[in-house]
Amino acid sequence: MLKVNSPDKDIVDFGANRLRTRYIIALMLLATLIVVSQWVIQRSLALQEHDSRVVNIAGRQRMLSQRITKTGYYLLDARTTEARHDYQGQLRDALNLWQRAHLGLQHGDDELGLPGDNSPRIVALFQSIEHEFQEMVAAGQEASNATADPERLTQAVGRLSDHEAAFLNGMDAIVFQYDSEAKQKVDNARRLEFGLAAFTLLVLYLEARFIFAPAVRRLRLEMRRHQQHESDMERLFSTSPTAMFLMDGTTLNIIRGNGKAEILMGCSATGFLGRPVTDFLDTKYEANNSFMEKIRAGEVLNEYEILLINARRHIVEALASCCRINYSGQPAYVIGATDITEIKKAQQTLEYYATFDEMTGLVNRRTGLLMLATELDRAKRDDLPLTVCFADLDGLKAINDQYGHHEGDWTIHTVAMVLSDSIRGGDVALRLGGDEFLLILHDCDEPQGKQLVERVEQRLARIVAEEPRPYRLSASFGIAVYDPQRHQAPEDLIADADARMYEAKHAKRMAASRAWQTPAG
Ligand code: GH3
Ligand code: MG
Repeated sequence: MLKVNSPDKDIVDFGANRLRTRYIIALMLLATLIVVSQWVIQRSLALQEHDSRVVNIAGRQRMLSQRITKTGYYLLDARTTEARHDYQGQLRDALNLWQRAHLGLQHGDDELGLPGDNSPRIVALFQSIEHEFQEMVAAGQEASNATADPERLTQAVGRLSDHEAAFLNGMDAIVFQYDSEAKQKVDNARRLEFGLAAFTLLVLYLEARFIFAPAVRRLRLEMRRHQQHESDMERLFSTSPTAMFLMDGTTLNIIRGNGKAEILMGCSATGFLGRPVTDFLDTKYEANNSFMEKIRAGEVLNEYEILLINARRHIVEALASCCRINYSGQPAYVIGATDITEIKKAQQTLEYYATFDEMTGLVNRRTGLLMLATELDRAKRDDLPLTVCFADLDGLKAINDQYGHHEGDWTIHTVAMVLSDSIRGGDVALRLGGDEFLLILHDCDEPQGKQLVERVEQRLARIVAEEPRPYRLSASFGIAVYDPQRHQAPEDLIADADARMYEAKHAKRMAASRAWQTPAG
């Protein structure tokens, strides 16, 4: 049986499943990496925003401390009450903002956007300037309250000035620390992003190496295998000594046919390709219907007799074999067919000559004896009379000698025709050989047999009257009725009939000799 697809379908499936699993894992990994990368980017952006705000506010603290000291000096120099009030307000505002930012930087302030999550180094730096800060706060408050007392104001502004430098130094260190920590975070985020990108590239590389490359290899292999199958199929079809068709397993459409198929179908391939095979199988024929039923049931058919109607509307008797195959992953059928129309005709001719006598068309001796045996059995079983009538042409030798074999043949043919025309439908006329014939007359007794002989003789006489011959056309007959006691075999019954015929012929000869000796009177 032709197997078009690879035999190791399970292995192919297994390989494909493994690749699919790998592919899904790789995709999930890539998706996770993309999500994580996004999260890292978003987080680092948010951190950068916080950090730049912290650095800004820390930087502003320096500026505010300077402004507080400077405002203290302005207050000292203020000559009018109005100016003093103005500087007093500015000093208080600056102090409030400065204090709030100082606390916010250390402990967090949502409104100012300060997280307050400082590193131990920054916490330590804040502790190192805490004293300066507290002194400056106390001096600033003193300065803002003691505007009416120049002595106290001068002292307060002096204290502010004394602590400002140390505070500024400490704050510089804090701003620098904030800045370098922010840069460190940006570097870390950049490294993480780079790592993620590198990992993503690695996953892509592994995917290409272990998924796409094997998949492409497998695809190439499958394509080569497919091409090989195609060329095997092509070779098989082109070298096949019989007509071959490939039929789609679902639609039953013919999808391929070889040169012999074109001859069988009486047209080029375009005349049958793409058409369902049933277009060429007349459903009137039971054999065709059962052929299609068996095909649909997936049976392997061997030398099944079907009747095709080809493109020229000729009925073609064919021996078809069919098997189901897997063609390019789809079910299909391969049908091989041999035209047996000529063989069938020859077979029928052989059967005819094995049954009938070629010259007369009567049943021949061999078949006739078999029929007689069957009739004997039936007569015995049904208790019906069975009669046989032996006939032998009179003087055929002489006719042959005087008028030639052709004339002799005519007499044999004529007697055969008369015998055959004189019997009933179920009776049999057979040629035993030469000029000897036998009639098998079922459900017929002796008187009826004799009547039949009379009818035959009358017909022969009529023929001679219509077509006069220079000789007498006659035959002698012997009738025997079947007797189960006497006749064991057909030959026994024939022998009796032959003996009667001989008696009749002898009597005829004696009568003729007497007539010849007696002068006409
Ligand atoms: P009888 O009256 O006693 O029957 O004599 P007959 O001349 O008919 O001779 P017989 O029956 O004994 O022999 C039959 C002869 O018929 C022998 C043979 O020469 C001839 N014969 C047999 N078959 C054929 C045939 O097919 N065609 C012709 N023309 N003659 C045949
Ligand atoms: Mg004879």
